[in-house]
Amino acid sequence: MAARILDGKALAAQVLSGAKKEVERLAQRGIAPGLAVILAGEDPASRVYVRNKVRACGETGIRSRLVELPSAVTEEKLMSCVAELNADPAIHGILVQLPLPKQVDAARVLDAVSPAKDVDGFHPENLGALVAGTPRLVPCTPAGIMRLIEHAGVAPAGRRAVVIGRSTIVGKPLALLLLQKDATVTVCHSKTRDLEEIARGADILIAAVGRPKLVTGKMVKPGACVIDVGINRLADGSLAGDVDFESVRAVAGWVTPVPGGVGPMTIAMLLENCLRAAER
Ligand code: NAP
Repeated sequence: MAARILDGKALAAQVLSGAKKEVERLAQRGIAPGLAVILAGEDPASRVYVRNKVRACGETGIRSRLVELPSAVTEEKLMSCVAELNADPAIHGILVQLPLPKQVDAARVLDAVSPAKDVDGFHPENLGALVAGTPRLVPCTPAGIMRLIEHAGVAPAGRRAVVIGRSTIVGKPLALLLLQKDATVTVCHSKTRDLEEIARGADILIAAVGRPKLVTGKMVKPGACVIDVGINRLADGSLAGDVDFESVRAVAGWVTPVPGGVGPMTIAMLLENCLRAAER
């Protein structure tokens, strides 16, 4: 039997409608949640991501402020921009869209965001809380993946989870979230030997690599829940995930599509983080 499709777009729409109600509840308490997005440079993909985030804010009633800066922006200008937003009581969440222009030390800028307003969950304080098992603001993509797994009715406890990719924004925080839900977690990366065999042992398999169709059907355990984080632009302009959808679909129990899987959930979790930050 072909895998069931884990529809991130539909689940994200549910989250957004919940967020809309939450905005109304907060309004009764005199709180108007506000998100600031800093976009530096001309990266076309970043522009699309930011546009989608700002649009989602509009749909839920969260105020958004887009701060656009030229690609020649200095690190000091970015630092002063972050400092201003940190001090602004009308702004509850600050998102610095990555990548930043190459002359800027991105880690320094991200570290300058107040941990209480760090809706991307990238600040060392928030990452540290996650490691300690007391998560506060959790990175959006891993949070969205956990929500998708929960929605599929796949309880991580006791199951084998394999995360391919160890980035700070996806792979590592996701491994910690799965561990917190009592999965037995293996993290793979570019130096991993026997990737195929390790992947085949997974009840929950997540690909966050950035290599089109890296995961094929023969790497998947029958009935496994497969989550595709990858967004890869192919030569013909089309989008592909890290998972070979057709061959995996024939083996897996659940699989996320690209687009329409993890992407919309990332935005939905950003809005939830913003509401959490506003509520404090
Ligand atoms: P990244 O920082 O480039 O990390 C990629 C990871 O994959 C690294 O840990 C790397 O290993 C590992 N890797 C590379 N080649 C491999 C191979 N052949 N076998 C096994 N592991 C391999 O990427 P990222 O930021 O985590 O993003 C990963 C993908 O997810 C990208 O396509 C990105 O566009 C997408 N993404 C999507 C969303 C969304 O909302 N849908 C959000 C974020 C990212 P090493 O550490 O050894 O180099």
